[in-house]
Amino acid sequence: MRLPDRVDNWIDGASRPAAGGATMPVVEPATGRVISQLAASGAADVEAAQAAAVRAFPAWMALGAAARAERLERLAALVERDLERLAQLESADSGKPLALARTVDIPRAAANLRFFAEAVRAWRPDEDLRAPHAVSRVIRRPSGVAGCISPWNLPLYLFTWKVAPALAAGCTVVGKPSEETPLTAAAFAELSAEAGFPPGVLNVVQGRGAECGAAIVAHPGIPTISFTGGTETGARIMSVAGPMFKSVALELGGKNPTIVLDDADLDAAVAGAVRAAFQNQGQICLCGSRVLVARPLHARFRDAFVERARALRLGDPLDAATEQGSLVSAAHRAKVSSAVERARSEGGRVLSGGHAPDPDSLPERVRGGAYYLPTVIEGLPMACATNQEEIFGPVATIQPFDGDDDAVRLANHSSFGLAASVWTGDHARGMRVAEGLESGIVWINAWLLRDLRVPFGGVKRSGLGREGGDEALRFFTEPKSITWPA
Ligand code: NDP
Repeated sequence: MRLPDRVDNWIDGASRPAAGGATMPVVEPATGRVISQLAASGAADVEAAQAAAVRAFPAWMALGAAARAERLERLAALVERDLERLAQLESADSGKPLALARTVDIPRAAANLRFFAEAVRAWRPDEDLRAPHAVSRVIRRPSGVAGCISPWNLPLYLFTWKVAPALAAGCTVVGKPSEETPLTAAAFAELSAEAGFPPGVLNVVQGRGAECGAAIVAHPGIPTISFTGGTETGARIMSVAGPMFKSVALELGGKNPTIVLDDADLDAAVAGAVRAAFQNQGQICLCGSRVLVARPLHARFRDAFVERARALRLGDPLDAATEQGSLVSAAHRAKVSSAVERARSEGGRVLSGGHAPDPDSLPERVRGGAYYLPTVIEGLPMACATNQEEIFGPVATIQPFDGDDDAVRLANHSSFGLAASVWTGDHARGMRVAEGLESGIVWINAWLLRDLRVPFGGVKRSGLGREGGDEALRFFTEPKSITWPA
């Protein structure tokens, strides 16, 4: 497939280069080659996008939930129609296996659109309340222009996870994908015109986070910010948006435990833990990077886990047999590699991986890619940096525990609290462990099992607020209480 030579902003229903014409290269991480040129936008482009979104807002809000839902469904159908093209763009941009983009990223992007179309149709945002002395009506209206900033790991999937509820609720949007993975958001914006979204309803500004992302956050006319990304960036955003009293939702990092109790089905738990640790090369905020195993099972589990990690097939993302693609960039691989060196210096024993693959072991096309072997490390205390800091790559630590309380104690020994998975043969026991975990999301005998109605998000340094279902629709609205005597 031919990739676009250049990727521009989408503002007011049209493609536009950055004001001033600056561009930056887009690199295909699996090959190291420059595949496109991206508009390197700044405050002037954000200003133009925000102005278009302000102009479009009254009519979009007035259109009503049913008509907005219909547009979202048309857009979902176009994403499904173009699934193959979008999957190829996503894979080229991010290094992820094409098969994963085809079966997870792009179908889930369409599912997000369909889900919020249906959710907003069923949503009754207004509420009447009666007291002996007063009658009230609480009305919720869209809060205006929403800033939606998303990361590179699941580009279109996470972009639509924000944009769909914002548009469904009646907001207009200034969105920004990561500069690492701009291609699918640009294609998606063009599809929005075909789906009948009026100019200015969805705007996409491309470029660096520190420039156009920061300009979105600082813009006084963008009162709502929905951000998914790293914890440090989230803190920076809060320091700007907080004093401006913006509504902010932050979905940040994780250091998620996979907990295997002594009555777990060993095969299912190993398969689940391998998927949780290494899917998308470990670059999912929900990845289980700390594997905790009940001591009676530990040796058998560890050996099987390491064997499965070693067997994961690295290869060309375009090859249907590839299970592990490239990391998102050479710079990110250098970060992962230095985290593994730190683990060694902390006394960790590397049981598998621990370095980049020999380029000669890779197909010729991807020898210049940012690959890293699935890595398992043991022998580290929970307090060390390796177990405390997010690596966001194909690296998991493993350690035994003694009893369920010990598992919960170790799991909670983290400044993050996004997700956890518990593997057990006894559901009630799994529920007890889940209750004890400081985590926004817990799976029992599963990982990444999603019901889009449930609140999604984390506690502690994993973020603020929840996405998903009515929580997301509420986030993009402001309530107003109108009260009169009974
Ligand atoms: P970053 O925080 O670096 O970037 C996220 C987005 O924010 C990108 O679009 C980025 O643009 C932009 N950005 C960067 N700096 C600023 C700024 N000062 N103001 C406004 N926007 C800015 O995260 P990554 O893209 O590196 O993504 C990885 C991180 O995201 C991991 O920590 C991961 O855990 C987290 N994540 C969390 C999820 C969750 O739901 N909790 C889901 C997925 C990922 P650019 O890339 O162009 O710099």
